[in-house]
Amino acid sequence: MWKIGNIYFIAAVAVIGGALFGFDISSMSAIISTQPYLCQFNQRGHDENGLCLGPTDDVQGGITAAMPGGSWLGALVSGIVSDAFGRKTSIQLGAIIWIIGSVVVCASVNIPMLAIGRVINGFSVGICSAQVPVYISEISPPSKRGRLIGFQQWAITWGILIMFFICYGSSFIPGTAAFRLPWGLQAVPAVLLFLGLVFLPESPRWLAKKDRWEQAVEVLTLIHGKGDPNSPWVIRELSEIREVVEFERANADVSYFELFTPGMINRTQVGVFTQIWSQLTGMNVMMYYITYVFTMAGLSEPGTNAVLLPSGIQFVINVVMTVPALLWMDRWGRRPTLLVGAFLMCFWLCINAGLFAVYGRAPYPGEFTSTAESMAVEGPPAKAIIAATYLFVASFAPTWGPVSWTYPPELFPLRLRGKAVALCTSANWAFNFALAYFVPAAFANITWRVYLIFATFCAAMFLHVFFMFPETANKPLEEIEEMFDDTKPGAIKYIGTPAWKTKNTRNLALRQERNETLSSEEKMGVSGEHKESAA
Ligand code: BGC
Repeated sequence: MWKIGNIYFIAAVAVIGGALFGFDISSMSAIISTQPYLCQFNQRGHDENGLCLGPTDDVQGGITAAMPGGSWLGALVSGIVSDAFGRKTSIQLGAIIWIIGSVVVCASVNIPMLAIGRVINGFSVGICSAQVPVYISEISPPSKRGRLIGFQQWAITWGILIMFFICYGSSFIPGTAAFRLPWGLQAVPAVLLFLGLVFLPESPRWLAKKDRWEQAVEVLTLIHGKGDPNSPWVIRELSEIREVVEFERANADVSYFELFTPGMINRTQVGVFTQIWSQLTGMNVMMYYITYVFTMAGLSEPGTNAVLLPSGIQFVINVVMTVPALLWMDRWGRRPTLLVGAFLMCFWLCINAGLFAVYGRAPYPGEFTSTAESMAVEGPPAKAIIAATYLFVASFAPTWGPVSWTYPPELFPLRLRGKAVALCTSANWAFNFALAYFVPAAFANITWRVYLIFATFCAAMFLHVFFMFPETANKPLEEIEEMFDDTKPGAIKYIGTPAWKTKNTRNLALRQERNETLSSEEKMGVSGEHKESAA
């Protein structure tokens, strides 16, 4: 079958998997406060104005969390599925499961059906969110890997935005179509993902692992060789792949367990914590429950969807503020980006905690519908809360958002990358699940202190990054290996080079890469396109 070899096209199709992730995140935010939803899944009766009160907070937490719960499971098993059936096939499987989940969710008439549909959807997103970065990193040329994986985060933010506004638009439709339409429409991109993947090649690394060398060469020729199987780039990639495959065969015990051996455990904790901390910033409180926060800040009118538009602005900010990272992430380096992000988010969270603590009051009986909306603030302090919320999102988007996806794959050698990334991604989903579930109850019980808890996490992650997260930007694999080598003089046992002593050597790396490209061109007569992909 005819296949497309353009790497940007391949990445564009594959990151539709990222957009599904985004749908997953915002598929509830715009809907949980609308009357058709609250009435269809009503457990708490009506208020004095006859408005439906919807599910209890615990149950709402469970409905929201059903998706990240399923995603956690999906991410965990994705490594096994993709090793057995291939990267491309596992993402296609994810797309089919998403379509099934969307049909169940769209048709749901009661809470169990809705929750089951969301678990199915989540399972699909778990597979896609873990395997899209693996597929992209295995198929793209080394010099473009970071940026192409970073696109996954951009696709996530677009997915969140698009789904939110589809839900917003649908909220004007009377009756249950207000939520059935968006939950049905979300199946469309999965159809595109499935069909698009039919025309994309399988990962050459996976093919080689399965001893399908001929096909692996075909794919490399298509992507890197402009049709010439003897092009120097094809030969180089092929020999790298051969080396890894042979190493794996000789060390048959390459498995999840190796991630916990002394030489690897430090990277494993750094990678897993990158994802855990990205969740504990509190970003998803804003993503899932922004309508609660803005209702408390006085932006809602009972029985209407007035709170949705100002809530939607944060999703636009999220998309726009991810762009600087795509452009300059490699220039900034991973460490400074993570440190600045943690510092800024800690600051905005403290501001919000202070404003709610000082200017907040308990709501009057019947003022709000959800017990998670446990405070009310008016006037200028309310405006300041809204501003600080937007600034918080603007701080996450160019920092922890994209870096949480580019950093983990950079930490691990190729032979362990697939499994390591699956483990890190499953940590993202485990904490995502916990937050989705506990945040409404936390707001109901400890009100503004919720913000303080997340601020404390941000302070903790700042310290953790400062002392333990080494710089990986622009470093070749061997250099990263060396940083983690604890037998070198000056290294710390199990840790290697102290993280704060590692630097982003971008200029040096660029210079070296340029020199190497020049000399290899001289030797091999590399074509124009390869010059560009090496630069
Ligand atoms: C996180 C998601 C979050 C999203 C927001 C991602 O990196 O993993 O949990 O909702 O960013 O843009």
